[in-house]
Amino acid sequence: MSDPFDLGAYEEPQAAAPSPSPLAPDWLDALNEPQRAAVEALDGPVLVLAGAGTGKTRVLTSRIANILGQRKAWPSRILAVTFTNKAAREMRERIAALVGPMAQDLWLGTFHSIAARILRRHAELVGLNPSFSIIDTDDQLRLLKQLLAVEGIDEKKWPPRMLAAAIDRWKDKGITPDKAGVGDSGFADGRAPDLYRQYQERLKVLNACDFGDLLLHNLTIFLTHPEVLAEWQEKFRYVLVDEYQDSNVSQYLWLRLLAQKYKNICCVGDDDQSIYGWRGAEVGNILRFEKDFPGARIVRLEQNYRSTPHILAAASGLIAHNEGRLGKTLWTALNEGEKVLVRGVWDGEEEARSIGDEVESLQRAGSRLSDMAILVRAGFQTRSFEERFIQLGLKYKVIGGLRFYERQEIRDAIAYMRVVAQPADDLAFERIFNVPKRGLGDATLQLINRTARAQSIPMLAAARILAETDELKPKARSTLRMLVESFDRWRVLLDQLPHTELVETILDESGYTAMWQADRSVEAPGRLENLKELVQALEQFENLGGFLEHVSLVMENDAGGDGDMISLMTMHAAKGLEFNAVFLPGWEEGLFPSQRSMEEKGTEGLEEERRLAYVGLTRARQRAYVYFAANRRVYGQWQAALPSRFIDELPGDHVEAQSTQGVYGSSAPAGGGRFGTFAYDAPWLTAERNLQSVGRTRDSQGRTIEGSAHPVANDSSAAFAVGSRVFHQKFGYGRVQAVDDNKLTITFDKAGTKKVIDAFVEKA
Ligand code: ATP
Ligand code: MG
Repeated sequence: MSDPFDLGAYEEPQAAAPSPSPLAPDWLDALNEPQRAAVEALDGPVLVLAGAGTGKTRVLTSRIANILGQRKAWPSRILAVTFTNKAAREMRERIAALVGPMAQDLWLGTFHSIAARILRRHAELVGLNPSFSIIDTDDQLRLLKQLLAVEGIDEKKWPPRMLAAAIDRWKDKGITPDKAGVGDSGFADGRAPDLYRQYQERLKVLNACDFGDLLLHNLTIFLTHPEVLAEWQEKFRYVLVDEYQDSNVSQYLWLRLLAQKYKNICCVGDDDQSIYGWRGAEVGNILRFEKDFPGARIVRLEQNYRSTPHILAAASGLIAHNEGRLGKTLWTALNEGEKVLVRGVWDGEEEARSIGDEVESLQRAGSRLSDMAILVRAGFQTRSFEERFIQLGLKYKVIGGLRFYERQEIRDAIAYMRVVAQPADDLAFERIFNVPKRGLGDATLQLINRTARAQSIPMLAAARILAETDELKPKARSTLRMLVESFDRWRVLLDQLPHTELVETILDESGYTAMWQADRSVEAPGRLENLKELVQALEQFENLGGFLEHVSLVMENDAGGDGDMISLMTMHAAKGLEFNAVFLPGWEEGLFPSQRSMEEKGTEGLEEERRLAYVGLTRARQRAYVYFAANRRVYGQWQAALPSRFIDELPGDHVEAQSTQGVYGSSAPAGGGRFGTFAYDAPWLTAERNLQSVGRTRDSQGRTIEGSAHPVANDSSAAFAVGSRVFHQKFGYGRVQAVDDNKLTITFDKAGTKKVIDAFVEKA
C-alpha cells in the first residue's frame, strides 16, 4: 500500500495486479434505490440532501467502499471529512468491515485533523516550523490578554474573550488580518484588525497556531502556492463530506479548492440539522454547492430507518414551525411504537430521580445502558444526573468535553511535554515556569517576558540568557539556571528514551509528582492516579509528538473504562448518533430554547434552537422522553420555569403527557393546562400562582418569551415572618420557625421540620 504521507509515490490503481473486489457480491442490497444511486454515481459532484436517519452517513461509508472495491483509487487518495474524531473512527470501522485493512490508509478525519496534517508538510510556507504547537482556547486567551496589556487596552471594558470571538469569526470566514475590516468588529474602537495582526505575528514567534489557523493557513498556502494546491488536488481524487450543513465558509473554500480538479465531491447533509451557526457554520453552503459545481447530482432520501412513526412525526411536526428551511418529507416502514413521553416534574432533582427510575426500569426490561442517552442543552445540566447515577450505581460516561485532558494536573504535565517537544512554546513554559513552586516570582517572569519580546526569542531562550547575567537576584538566577538545564537534559533524552519513560522522568525530576505526593488535599490521590493514567495514554502513541497532536485535536471525550454505560452529552455532541432510548431533560423556556441564543440572534437563534430540538428527538430509535421542571436552580438561583414552547409545538397525536405529581409528593391544586397538549394540572401552574400569592413583582430578567415577562423567583425580599402560618406544595401546612434570606425553616404539620425556598411557600 502506498504511504499516505508520500505525495510523490502515487501508484495508479490500474498498475496494481488485478485482484477481486473485497466486497461481498450482495453488499448493495443493504441500500435502497436512491441510496444506491448516490453510492454508484462515483464521478462528478453529488449532494445528498435528506432528513435525519435516512442513511446519509451510510451512503458515505458505502461510497468509499465502492470506490475501493472498484479499484477507482487508492485509499490514500480518498479524503473523507467527518464532524468528530469519534465519527471518523466509527466510519473507518464500518468501511473496514466492508473492504478490510485498506481502510487504514484513508485520509479520514475532521477538518481540523486533516488540515493539521497538511499544514505540517508545508508549515514553512506560512512562517512556521513543522513542529508547531496547536494552542487551545485557554492559551489563546492568555496570549490576547498579554497583547491587550501591552497595548494599554482595558480588559475589563474589552474582554479578551470578545476579541477571541471576533478573531475566530474572521478565521471561520477565511479572512486574514490584511482583509479584516474595522466594520466587522467594534472591539476597542476599531482596533481589532490590528490586534488580530499582532496576535498572528505573536503566534508565529511562538511557532504555534490556534484551531482556526489550521484551515486558514491551508487556504493561504493553497492560494499563494498553486503548485502545492495542484499536488493536493491531484492527490485527492475523491472527496466526501458528512454533516455538510455545519461547515463554515473557510471549510467550504478549502473543500472547493481541493475538489476543483476531479470534481468528485460528495457532500451529505440536512439543513434542518444545522446547529453550529453560533460557531460560524453556513447553511448557505448547501445552496452554493449547485452553483459552484454545475451539473451536480442532487439526491434526496426520504425513508427514515431509525425512528418509530410517532417519534418521526413528533420531530417533523416540531421542525415544521421553522420558516427558513428547504422542507422535506420523511416516512418510515417501522411499526408504530410508543408515543413521545412528555413529563412535567417539580424540580431538577425530581427530574434526575425520574429519569434514573426510568433507566432502571428499561434495564430490568432487558435494555442495555449503552442503548440509552441523556441529551442536555447546557453543560451544567449533567451534574444532577451524574450524581443520581453514582447513587444508583449506574455506569455512565460524559461525552463531548475534554474531561480528562482538562484536569489541572494533566494540563500541567502536558505543558512540560510541550516545552520539551517544542522549546518555543512560551504558553506552555509560562504555565509550568513556577509549578511546582520553585520561588520564581512574577518579577522574574516579567523580566523573561520583556527580554523575550525585546529580542524576539522564545521565553526559554530568554531564561537561558538571564540565567547567565546579573539581572536577577542570585537565588532566582540559580533556580532558573537549573530549570533551563533540566529542559536541555530532557530534550536530549527525547531521542534516547522511550517517550513514556521520558515523561515519567520529567514528572519526577521536575518535582511535579512530589508536589502532589506532599499535597494533603482530598483530591491529591486522584491527581496522582490521573498522572499515571496519562503515562498509560502515552503508550498508545508512537512518540511524544503524536501524542501531543492527539491531545490538541481530541474534540470529544470518550471517557475511559468499558462495559455497559449510559451516555450523557449535549444535543450538539449527539449529532449523527442514535440510541434506542433518548431522554431530553430541561425543556423549559430560557433553558431550551436558550435565552441567550434568542437574545443574541432573535428569530434566527430560536430557529437554530428548534433545529437542535429536532436533532435531539431524531436521535431516538424507539423511545423519546421529554422532561420539564416547574422549578430550576440555574447558577445558584431558584427560578420558576415554564415549559418550553417546543413542547407545545409537538403534535398532540404523537405525544403522551404525564405528570409525576403524586409519585414524588408534589401536589397541585385544580387548574387547566395552558398549553394545548396538556390537559392536566401542571406543577408549573402552581409555582406561578405561588409567586402571585406572595405579591412578588415579576421581572423579565433572563426569562421572557414573545414579549411577555415571566416570573423569576429569586427576589429575596421575604414576605414571611417567624410564626406565620404557611402552605407548601410538597409538605402542606406548617409554621415558619426561622427566616434566612430566602430560605425558611418551617415545621410542617405532617412532614416535620424542613428548610425550604420561600418562593414555593404561600401564606395560609
Ligand atoms: P443523521 O441525519 O442523524 O446523521 P443519517 O441520515 O446519517 O442520520 P444513518 O446514520 O446513516 O442516517 O442511518 C440511520 C440508521 O438507519 C442507521 O442505523 C443505519 O444503519 C440505518 N439504515 C440506513 N439505511 C438503511 C437501509 N437502506 N436499510 C436498513 N437500514 C438502514
Ligand atoms: Mg449521519
